[in-house]
Amino acid sequence: MKAFSYTRAASPAAARQALNGGGEKFIAGGTNLLDLMKLQVETPSHLIDINHTGLDAIEATADGGLRIGALVRNADLAADPRVRKNYEVLSRALLSGASAQLRNKATTGGNLLQRTRCYYFYDTTKPCNKRAPGSGCAAMEGFNRIHAVLGVSDQCIASHPSDMAVAMRVLNAVVETVKRDGAAREIPIADLHTLPGETPQIETVLEHGELITAVRLPKPPPGKQIYRKVRDRASYAFAMVSVATILDVQKGEVTAGKMAFGGIGAKPWRDEAAENKLQGGAADCGAFSDAILAGAVGHGDNDFKIPLTRRVIHAVVAQATAKDTQHGI
Ligand code: SF4
Repeated sequence: MKAFSYTRAASPAAARQALNGGGEKFIAGGTNLLDLMKLQVETPSHLIDINHTGLDAIEATADGGLRIGALVRNADLAADPRVRKNYEVLSRALLSGASAQLRNKATTGGNLLQRTRCYYFYDTTKPCNKRAPGSGCAAMEGFNRIHAVLGVSDQCIASHPSDMAVAMRVLNAVVETVKRDGAAREIPIADLHTLPGETPQIETVLEHGELITAVRLPKPPPGKQIYRKVRDRASYAFAMVSVATILDVQKGEVTAGKMAFGGIGAKPWRDEAAENKLQGGAADCGAFSDAILAGAVGHGDNDFKIPLTRRVIHAVVAQATAKDTQHGI
């Protein structure tokens, strides 16, 4: 690990004031950043510890939603009674991620900003356009079982690893930030993450020194909420395909629905335009699946994700429309 200096900030303003030369990183749970530093994938010159900035509350909002402080730990968010009752898709997604120990440390803001688990990104002996722009992409012709099939480019096919962000995407969350100059802004979660294109090293629209302070959820949506995750083992594994869905069901048929996906996209994936095809029963999912997967591209080892996504869509619609299903999870 390269040497770095360290500041413990007592407030968001103090965290911003600790920014100076451009090589700083904010650190909260550190569950991804510390691994990356040990491997010298990330080499910040200065760490600004934001754990004591007070951004750790979950509060009701005036419009009936929730405001989740950026430092709320994943375990605490999953266990919050309001989240369990009204945003169960989020609670389920959080509990499906990582391990209990990691969920106790990992934060809401950090979860959104975690980086891909592409093997070659972590291996500094291999070319990787995300880690070293212009060096190439070892995954294209390498082992790419965990990689994305949607939103990829000829520069990078890495998948976004978060479960939490997929649930927040279907819930239309809004990310609150404060920029280095103190200006606040709000970013719909759909716009937070960027696609790799020609610049896979850029992963979000955040500016240097812009701090996530909270994530706001709108008031609880009607409908059955389901989070289904397909992975290589029963726990402590990233999604091969995951689905966060909210489905209105009447007389055993879906009348309207929203669906976001993990494991298959370069960012938490959702196609709102396709969702008007989300109607009927499990046997009627073909048009929606076709629309979601219209631009899907496999690179060999990850080809299976395309038919698997179809089956997962079928499965969650079957689960939601089953006559004996009360809660859909
Ligand atoms: Fe790097 Fe992206 Fe290629 Fe992985 S897929 S090696 S992260 S450029």
